[in-house]
Amino acid sequence: MIARPCIRVLKFGGTSVATPERWRQVRGIVEERLATGVRPVVVVSALSGVTNLLEDVLRALRLREPTRDLLADVRHRHERLADGLDVRDHSGYRAVLASLESHVDAVAGAELADRDRAAILAHGELASSALGAAWLRESGLSVDLQDVRQWVRASGDGAEGSHHPYLSAAARSERDPALQRRLLSRPATVTITQGFLACNDRGETVLLGRGGSDTSASLLGAILGATEVEIWTDVPGVFTADPRILPQARLLDRVSYDEAEVFATNGAKVLHSRCIAPLRAGGTPLSVRWIDRPDTCGTRVDGTEPRPGVKGVGLREGLCLLTLDRLGGGGSTHDFATVLAAFDRVGFALDLLATGRDRVQLTLDPRSSPGLEARLPDLVERLGLACRASLQRGVAAVSLVGHDLCGSLRELAAYLACLRDWSFPIVQHAADGHSFTVVATNGAARELHAGLHETLLLHGKDDIRTAPAWEQLDRTNTTTSSPPTPVLRAGAALGASS
Ligand code: ASP
Ligand code: MG
Repeated sequence: MIARPCIRVLKFGGTSVATPERWRQVRGIVEERLATGVRPVVVVSALSGVTNLLEDVLRALRLREPTRDLLADVRHRHERLADGLDVRDHSGYRAVLASLESHVDAVAGAELADRDRAAILAHGELASSALGAAWLRESGLSVDLQDVRQWVRASGDGAEGSHHPYLSAAARSERDPALQRRLLSRPATVTITQGFLACNDRGETVLLGRGGSDTSASLLGAILGATEVEIWTDVPGVFTADPRILPQARLLDRVSYDEAEVFATNGAKVLHSRCIAPLRAGGTPLSVRWIDRPDTCGTRVDGTEPRPGVKGVGLREGLCLLTLDRLGGGGSTHDFATVLAAFDRVGFALDLLATGRDRVQLTLDPRSSPGLEARLPDLVERLGLACRASLQRGVAAVSLVGHDLCGSLRELAAYLACLRDWSFPIVQHAADGHSFTVVATNGAARELHAGLHETLLLHGKDDIRTAPAWEQLDRTNTTTSSPPTPVLRAGAALGASS
């Protein structure tokens, strides 16, 4: 039976659009949605590795080095995919690649502006969407290739209010009922569009930050009044820890918006940390789905009130610890204002923080935005005018993540025991109550991360222990020759009512 038409946003990440097999899976998923009256809006990332290559092009331009081989590699990846899919109409993606090459030519030898950086990086998504649209059309679907810059607008005029208005812009998420009606009134059509990109009020291309295609999907979900946003990726969902680091990590079948956001900001790579906010306002659910096994349920993110308690362990590596000694008269608001002003000037966000009588210690994530790494010396120099500032690299943050951790202090006894006799410069309880973090400078982070996962989750919680582990799912995925059996049940991991 065909239900009333509704819109669903389906986002496919870089690895989910990089091979012919993956595109055939994409088509299968899209066809299934169409058959039930859904109007799919497909959001794609650049082919896996292409945004990194384009960053390499930018680096080469800055250093006045040749870009020819890098651009040839970008072209080759698209041609190889088009060959594998037997695409007949090459005009769309080849026009994008030609525009990329002429843009790079035009700026070679000149000082690069962020505006050019954004325009160059945007070509990855423009090319993958054009190629995918051609193939889906040739395989018999009615396809509309949409330029996402007509739908997703940066908030503000991009110049103020953000340090990275071109490379990591914020965007508007107000619903557009006219657009929604227009999509719903069309006969069964697939819309395919780009993640990562938006447009500012001057009509220029801006980007939503690395990994920002998830946020594009959520923004479109809110703008188009979608009933659900599906993030299709190469892992089955949100796990109790990063499954690539701890293969025994368990799959969570349901997390709240807050929890998903805290997981993302504390190191879970499966979702972009800014993709939750646009969904929360309208209560739009999001599901993380596994492209290799479309029959599995994945993780659902929605507004259900979760049980308090630890649900995962996060690890963020590659941070810097900044220590400020002899900061004026002992941490007064005036002294702290000096620190904030320097951060603001240089474009860093405050991360983790500990204050003492005449010492402040804080962490920075130089990879949180493009170009930050290069500004670190400027920050230390500015702060050096007000105090003694020193910077330590290679620092890691280990976090417990879960709803209202303060409401389950009993669990924290085991947490404190895991900290053993290590010492940590920063121990922080997040003001929202959903995470506890320690900053480790001495290589203890990985050991602590594994120990906390074992003690608090695998030994501490029966519902989590019995949920599917990544190592088991991964094995089922790669070694089955018979048709896979669905191994996941909604509600299995957290006893959530679904
Ligand atoms: N292609 C962009 C990146 O690699 C955006 C994304 O894939 O989410 O960062
Ligand atoms: Mg991603």
